[in-house]
Amino acid sequence: MSLHQRHPQHDENMIDSAFDGGVGSIPKHRLPRHTQSADAAMRFVQDELMLDGNARQNLATFVTTWMEPQAATLIQESLEKNIIDKDEYPQSAEIERRCVNILANLWHASTPAGGADAVGCSTTGSSEAAMLAGMALKWRWRARQEAAGADATKPNLVMGANVQVCWEKFARYWDVEARLVPLDGATHLTAAQAAAACDENTIGVVAVLGSTFDGSYEPVAEIAAALDALQTSTGLDIPLHVDAASGGFIAPFLDQDLRWDFRLDRVKSINASGHKYGLVYPGVGWVVWRSADDLPKDLIFSVDYLGGSMPTFALNFSRPAAQVIAQYYTLVRYGFDGYQRIQQRARDIATTIAKGVEQLGVFTLISWGDELPVLAFSLTTPDAFTVYDLSHELRSFGWIVPAYPMPEGMADVDVLRVVVRNGFTFDLAGMFLSDLAASVERLAGKAPDRVAFHH
Ligand SMILES: *Cc1c(COP(=O)(O)O)cnc(C)c1O
Repeated sequence: MSLHQRHPQHDENMIDSAFDGGVGSIPKHRLPRHTQSADAAMRFVQDELMLDGNARQNLATFVTTWMEPQAATLIQESLEKNIIDKDEYPQSAEIERRCVNILANLWHASTPAGGADAVGCSTTGSSEAAMLAGMALKWRWRARQEAAGADATKPNLVMGANVQVCWEKFARYWDVEARLVPLDGATHLTAAQAAAACDENTIGVVAVLGSTFDGSYEPVAEIAAALDALQTSTGLDIPLHVDAASGGFIAPFLDQDLRWDFRLDRVKSINASGHKYGLVYPGVGWVVWRSADDLPKDLIFSVDYLGGSMPTFALNFSRPAAQVIAQYYTLVRYGFDGYQRIQQRARDIATTIAKGVEQLGVFTLISWGDELPVLAFSLTTPDAFTVYDLSHELRSFGWIVPAYPMPEGMADVDVLRVVVRNGFTFDLAGMFLSDLAASVERLAGKAPDRVAFHH
């Protein structure tokens, strides 16, 4: 059974060709008996994909939906390259290493050899990065416990209830208690809560730079300070990991004074999604450790069956090199100034939308787009209609805007969230606001406490 099922309709199992090219039909779920011509096969697949949404109107995803044609060319030219095959493709490996160093330097890791020997790797995305960083925390904690002759069977990971699902996955897959702290007064984890939830079995604390739920930054420096104080008073030395899936490519450019990265001694590792504000098509993430000491050696495998001996730390073996190459392209192409300009524009558009949303007079802003270029808002009085109705109504204009409850501690608040990415414009923002206003009007008109609409 596929985990992703479409609504069953009858005659589900065949696809017929859209135009009469004499191609007939092909089964959906079984391997077709006969070979198709390349053109006919392409047509079948293209027709199936036609009903996918229009990415420009998708305000739900954080993931890059547009790259320059030059990047697409590079991707096309490197489609056959396998990133694990570092002997066959030494330059792809070198490019991966440079990207790791560039990010480590951007995040203020103190890399001794002139910034050239940072500890980190590319991943499929932040989810794989979270698995790797989480494992490093777990392995180091276990070694500490064993060295102290203490119990090493009940690890926990402290994080806000607002963490992205990858951390709950990490905890479940690797048998770690997910110590999810309910929201209390803020839309994310606070320093006092983080420190209070730690004990001798805590493998680490995860702070999120850019919460998935509302785009707000968790107070990483305050969390680090609270953990420093905890160490002073109890001796517990709890490492801090920063999930900067989105913020890792925003804060270095727009919030340079914000201390969230390796400038804080407590921060031992950081992950980011290259395919979110790193501006690369889906399939690339990054994880960087503060130093070699923070990545246990026994997690690193040496592979020699591709020729040469190569250290590897990854969940997958084979993986496309194309996205890593595309990441290097964006870093070289945009440089610091370009990233700053693109992210600033996204933030300006997001804050403009936030003001427009507020002016409609029916919403309460949860976030304002001034941290991640993301805003979340709820209905001030959700009596006549809900944010779920609004999300549905916005679909009729083509906009995909998710509606969901906030995490535990704030679960009585239902929000709509808008994510502004590269490719969105002030013009589209204006259209979105007027369609949002029209949706509110339509729903208010239909609401049961109003007189029915007559033609
Ligand atoms: C998107 C996201 C993730 C997961 O990242 P992928 O790159 O999609 O695997 C993890 N954490 C946060 C905060 C995110 O926003």
